[in-house]
Amino acid sequence: MNLHEYQGKELLKSYGVAIQEGIVANTTEEALDAFKQLQAETGTEFAVIKAQIHAGGRGKGGGVKLAKDEADVKEHAGNILGMMLKTPQTPGGMDGEGKLVRKILVAEDAYRPDFDACSEMYVSILMDRQRKCNVIIYSTEGGMDIEAVAEETPHLVHKEYIDPTLGLQGFQARKVAFNLGLSGKAMKEMVRFITKLYSAFVGSDASLFEINPTLKTADDRIVAVDCKVTLDENALFRHKDLAEMRDTDEEDPTEVEAKSYGLNYVNLDGNVGCMVNGAGLAMATMDIIKLSGGEPANFLDVGGTADAARVEQAFRIILRDPAVKAILINIFGGIVRCDRVAQGVVDAYKNMGNINVPIIVRLQGTNADLAKKIIDESGLAVKSAILLQEAADRVKEVLEA
Ligand code: GDP
Ligand code: MN
Repeated sequence: MNLHEYQGKELLKSYGVAIQEGIVANTTEEALDAFKQLQAETGTEFAVIKAQIHAGGRGKGGGVKLAKDEADVKEHAGNILGMMLKTPQTPGGMDGEGKLVRKILVAEDAYRPDFDACSEMYVSILMDRQRKCNVIIYSTEGGMDIEAVAEETPHLVHKEYIDPTLGLQGFQARKVAFNLGLSGKAMKEMVRFITKLYSAFVGSDASLFEINPTLKTADDRIVAVDCKVTLDENALFRHKDLAEMRDTDEEDPTEVEAKSYGLNYVNLDGNVGCMVNGAGLAMATMDIIKLSGGEPANFLDVGGTADAARVEQAFRIILRDPAVKAILINIFGGIVRCDRVAQGVVDAYKNMGNINVPIIVRLQGTNADLAKKIIDESGLAVKSAILLQEAADRVKEVLEA
């Protein structure tokens, strides 16, 4: 689950990480109030108006603007709120349709009083699965073009691996600060920044923190100016406050609906819809679809109870994707009986009435033969199979037909 910048900053602040202070606003009037409040509380003269969407690169698309007075705040807030913001990271990139901006963050000018005396660094924390470690990735070359830095001058991007059982050691935080070219007060501040940031990462069960830019101010403070946070959904049950930060407006609507039914659904680019029980079988099904020359249109784990109601919900979700040219249903009847699933498929199919893509059903396990009989005798345009390879061959046939 991704957080908005303003939510991520709230999380960082609760762990004592220094942030660019800001107030979130939904309207131009709220933005003006926020501006006055920030001026009073932080002493900032200017403010930055920042679009809050789940995508980076906002600056490049006109979603981050400096406001020098109330008139500027009004103008920028008015322009950014409600705009379709295109960034290199929104769907389709700068040529796509962009994402609707519903909220803005009115933030203090962190670069005051001397923009040129500030330096933008890059700091991120994520998991390195191969090494079974957390890793801090950092560079002196922060700001809006870190992707280009990584590509063209990879030697300027450093990594510090952290053993999760030992945690971040003092010498590691000092090494990061040293490699960032800091000394004196800025060095001390960076050690503190990295240490608190790492505690926040572990404490919130995050899978990604990206603080770009991490700013060194003119007076040698270290401040998080931007913040991308991804949390591990499997750990959200123990972070009720963070779970409440979910913004379903930013997520794929079909995935949100699937989640409300308890279906585990991820939309993909291919043409063969899959309905499977169990994540492992779903993976294997996607593999065999690929081997038969198709491309999976989704990952869908219907879970243990594949009854008619659930099968119908799954059909509806899969068929919402216009790219789907065939559906492969692959259910293993261990706890659930295959004949009941088969009846569920037939009932759901009849109930929906408007399914016009070929369906291949493979039911294996308890009462598989009976299930095949139910499908074959249903009179519906549903092909049945018992072996996975058979099912894959049927998929190939209908794709080539
Ligand atoms: P992103 O484009 O989505 O990564 O958004 P960022 O929050 O990283 O902001 C983009 C850029 O806006 C930064 O790299 C800065 O150059 C600029 N910026 C952000 N905050 C401030 C600020 O407080 N003052 C000034 N002068 N510029 C800022
Ligand atoms: Mn940024």
